Amino acid sequence: MPHLPPLITTIVAGIGLAFVFGAIAARLRIPPLVGYLVAGIVAGPFTPGFVADQMLAPQLAEIGVILLMFGVGLHFSLKDLLSVSAIAIPGAIAQIGVATVLGLGLALAMGWTVTAGLVFGLALSVASTVVLLRALQERRELDTQRGRIAVGWLIVEDLAMVLALVLLPALAGIVNGQGGLERDWLASRLDVGLGGMLILTFLKVAAFVLFMLLVGRRVIPWILHGVAHMGSRELFRLAVLAIALGVAFGAAKLFGVSLALGAFFAGMVLSESELSHQAAQESLPLRDAFAVLFFVSVGMLFDPHILIEEPLPLLATLFIILAGKSFAAFVIVRVFRHPLRTALTISASLAQIGEFSFILAELGIGLELLPERARGLILAGAIMSILLNPLSFTVMDWLLKKLETRRDGSKEPAEAADETRLDTPPSPVPQSTTLQNHIILVGYGRVGSLVGNALLEKKLPFLVIEDTDLIVKQLRKSGIEVIDGNAAKPEVLAATNLPEAACMIVAIPNAFEAGHAIRQARTANPALRIIARAHSDPQVEHLSGLGADIVIMGEREVARGITERLFAPIVVEETAEPETQAAS
Ligand code: AMP
Repeated sequence: MPHLPPLITTIVAGIGLAFVFGAIAARLRIPPLVGYLVAGIVAGPFTPGFVADQMLAPQLAEIGVILLMFGVGLHFSLKDLLSVSAIAIPGAIAQIGVATVLGLGLALAMGWTVTAGLVFGLALSVASTVVLLRALQERRELDTQRGRIAVGWLIVEDLAMVLALVLLPALAGIVNGQGGLERDWLASRLDVGLGGMLILTFLKVAAFVLFMLLVGRRVIPWILHGVAHMGSRELFRLAVLAIALGVAFGAAKLFGVSLALGAFFAGMVLSESELSHQAAQESLPLRDAFAVLFFVSVGMLFDPHILIEEPLPLLATLFIILAGKSFAAFVIVRVFRHPLRTALTISASLAQIGEFSFILAELGIGLELLPERARGLILAGAIMSILLNPLSFTVMDWLLKKLETRRDGSKEPAEAADETRLDTPPSPVPQSTTLQNHIILVGYGRVGSLVGNALLEKKLPFLVIEDTDLIVKQLRKSGIEVIDGNAAKPEVLAATNLPEAACMIVAIPNAFEAGHAIRQARTANPALRIIARAHSDPQVEHLSGLGADIVIMGEREVARGITERLFAPIVVEETAEPETQAAS
C-alpha cells in the first residue's frame, strides 16, 4: 500500500470518525460533540489501533476557530462590541482573577509552587472559543444581548491570553533565572524590560485594532464588492476565505495578536456591508467541518489513566471549572444588574476550558513553571468540562424555570427595563397552543408574511413558528400567536397541537429543516394538509417524499410570473408592486 501523507490521513480519519460517532451520539439522543470527542479518543495514542497525527489535528482545528470567530465578527458591529464592554471587561478580568486564585489554592494544596499555581489557575480561567460559540449558536443565542456579552467576555479572555503568552517567558526568566527575558525582535531591539514588554504588547494590539478600523474597514468590503461584481461564486467564496484566513494570519504574524482575534476583526469590519450575510453563508460548511476537528483533536489528548491515578485532584480541578468559574461569573453579571437569564447563560457558557488552556499548559511546562502533572489535569479537566457543557445548559434551563416560577414574574424594575432592551429569550420549552382546526405557518419572512396577511384577511385561525427574535417580537406586538423556535425541533412542533391542526404551511427556504418539520408533522397527523416551499426540483421531490401534499417551487413561480407579464404588459403595470413581492 502506498504511504499516505499524514495530513490526508488526519483529515480523513478525523472527519470520518467524527461522522460515525457523531451519528451514533445523535441516534442515542446525546449531543453530537460527545461523539466527536469519543472519535478523538479512538484516534488518539491512548487507545489501541489507529493513531492520528497529534501535531496536525490541532492545527486543522485552528482553522475552525478562525472561521468561527470570523462568522461571529460578521454579526458584530463596533457599536455592539462597545456596548458590552462595560460588563465584559470587568467581568472577564474579575472572573479570571477568581479562577486563578482557586487554581492557586488547589496547586498549593498539592504542594506546587506559587508560580505553578498562578499558571495553573490562569489555564483554568479561560474558556474555549469553539465550545462557547457552538453552544450559543445551537441555542440561537448568539444574536441576543446575552450572546453578545458572552462574545465580548471571550474577546477579553483572548486578549488576556495574548498578554499571558508574552509575559510567561518573561516570568520564567525572573523565577528560574533562565538568561533573562525572552523577547521578540522588536522588544529586543528596543531593549525593554518586563513593563516595557507589557506596554509594547498593548501597543501592538492597539495598532492592529486601529489598522483594521482605519484601513481594513475600507479595503476589505471594497475587495469583496469588487469580487461580487465579477459574478463568480467560486471567486467570491475564495475571497471570503482568503480574507478570513489572511487577516488572522497577518494579525498573528505582524501584530502578535491571536489568530482568532484577527479573524473576529476581519468579520467585524465586514459586518456593516450588505455582503456580510453572503460571506457568512460561504464560510459555513468549511467552518463546521473544521470546528468538528477541534473536538476530535481534544479527544486525542485524553489519557484515561488519570481517572485512576489522580481522581481527587481531577475532581477539584473540575469543581473549579464547572462550579467556581460559573459562580464567579454569575455573581459578577448580577452585580452589574443584568437579568437572571443573562447571568446563567454566561455562567454555563464559561463553565469549560479548551484550546487556550492547552497552550498555556504546554508553555508553562516548557518554561519549567508548571510541573508535568498539570498537563494531565488540565487536559482531563478540559475534555470532561466540554463533555459536561451541554449538561450545564440543561441545569441552567431548569434553574431558570424554577427561579422564575418562584419569583412569579415579580421583576426588579432595573431588570425589567434591561429585558426590554434584550432580544426575546427563546424559552426552553415553548408554551402549547389552545388552537384547534388551525393553520400552522412556519416562517414569517418574505413568503410567510404574505401568506399570513392573507390568513388575517380571511380571519382564519393560525399560529406562526419563527426563530428570528425580532420577527417574534413584532408578531407578538401585533397580537399574532407565535411559537419562538426552530420548526425542525420536536419540542417546538409539539407546542402547535399538530393532531388537531387542519393545515401546515412550511414557508422557510431551508429544505433540510423543512423536511424535518414535515416528517414529524406527517407522523403526528396523517390527515394534515401540508403545503411547502422549495427552490429546486430535488427539493420538491425530497419534501413530497417526506409527506408534503403540495410543494411550490419558488423559481418556477417566478418564471410563471415573468411569462404572464411578458404576454400581458398592461395588466402588469397596474399590479406591479404586489406581484413582485408575491413572486420573490
Ligand atoms: P424568507 O426566506 O424571507 O421567507 O424568510 C424565512 C423566514 O423563516 C425567516 O424569518 C426565518 O427566520 C424563518 N425560519 C427559517 N428557518 C426556520 C426554522 N427552521 N424554524 C422557524 N423559522 C425559520
